[in-house]
Amino acid sequence: MQISQGKIMSNNESGMPLIPHVKPIEKLRTSGKINIVGMPRKVLASELLTITPKPKSIKMRETQIWNWIYQKGAKSFDIMTNISKEYRENLKRKFSIERPTLTKKQISCDGTRKYLLRLHDGNEIEAVYIPEKNRGTLCISSQVGCTLNCSFCFTGTQKLVRNLKSEDIIGQILVVRDDLNEWPYNGMPKDRKRQISNIVMMGMGEPLYNYDSVRDALHIVMDNEGIALSKKRITLSTSGVVPEIEKTGHEIGCLLAISFHATTDEVRNNLVPINRKWNIEKLLNALRSYPSLSNSQRITFEYVMLKDVNDSDLDAKRLVKLIAGIPAKINLIPFNPWPGSPYQRSTKKRINSFAKIVNRAGYASPIRSPRGEDIMAACGQLKSESIKLKKNLFEDKKIFKT
Ligand code: SAH
Ligand code: SF4
Repeated sequence: MQISQGKIMSNNESGMPLIPHVKPIEKLRTSGKINIVGMPRKVLASELLTITPKPKSIKMRETQIWNWIYQKGAKSFDIMTNISKEYRENLKRKFSIERPTLTKKQISCDGTRKYLLRLHDGNEIEAVYIPEKNRGTLCISSQVGCTLNCSFCFTGTQKLVRNLKSEDIIGQILVVRDDLNEWPYNGMPKDRKRQISNIVMMGMGEPLYNYDSVRDALHIVMDNEGIALSKKRITLSTSGVVPEIEKTGHEIGCLLAISFHATTDEVRNNLVPINRKWNIEKLLNALRSYPSLSNSQRITFEYVMLKDVNDSDLDAKRLVKLIAGIPAKINLIPFNPWPGSPYQRSTKKRINSFAKIVNRAGYASPIRSPRGEDIMAACGQLKSESIKLKKNLFEDKKIFKT
């Protein structure tokens, strides 16, 4: 496989890629079957019609299958005992139920779990589970690598290999639920608190550069017959792909987080280069018209604290002026270093001073405590393990050959 198939080339004068541009690299499974995991309801319905052309029974079949896969964790059609044997045989001929393979799991001293998952075509991604007192958050990836070279982000140093498909995105949740033994069918009492209570699209990649697959996957997450998590428990983080923001609100309706990180275009151009295409003004205008924006559904502004780069009191004052009128919360993220990273974390004193100014202006300004640092699982530290290893062996251009 060659990276040239999936790599986005810059195609405008600002040097930023346009959207949406990357086709998933299709590789037929050796079984020749279609993976039913991640398949949108409508597609499943039309596929089922090819098995039995009885539209009346399709809704019932769909519900039964989804219930087994997303609520009971079924890995084979054989255990779907409320479906007749004959129908199961038909399903088996056409479909498979597949998830990524868990190839490595690391558990931090603070309980954070980092998972390395191999996809069916051999590519690898990371997902991180962060348990807290009152909730458990799963951070999932949307791409293998990223096209956007944010200068403080480790993922940004890994060139894009491919967009994830809906099955790869949902697959991350299924594998982690397997690992946490979170399937009611496996003996978990129904009233036990859910271990994965929240999902954040803050892993590898830019979710709004892979809009269709992310939307399809999140619809399954939100569906009461799917993973069944409320849209208020799902946060999608974007570096600021302006043309996709309104659509995200209308079609997905989840919470939105923005990787803001700077208060002038000059600094943001360097930190988050997508700013050269959609600058702070364009981004803020798009946010002001985000559907469903309200005090109960505020936008989270993520702000990485980089020593002497974006962390002055003046920055804090500029920030609150810029976002005036937007129901918002400011999440201050102490910079998480990675091998060779060009920045330093701001001091605690500096972060506190910044937080105070933001807070006095009426915005919640929680300081995110880095989780899983000892296993490189904190924000911005994710990168496919295989790439990390190969990086030492090959030159940049060659590492994407498998
Ligand atoms: N591509 C999306 C989502 C993934 S990044 C986005 O950029 O929003 C998730 C969050 O981690 C973003 O806010 C990102 O800016 C932040 N981040 C990246 N590298 C980081 C680092 N080294 N330290 C702290 N936060 C970082
Ligand atoms: Fe990509 Fe987000 Fe990292 Fe920027 S911060 S390089 S958009 S993953």
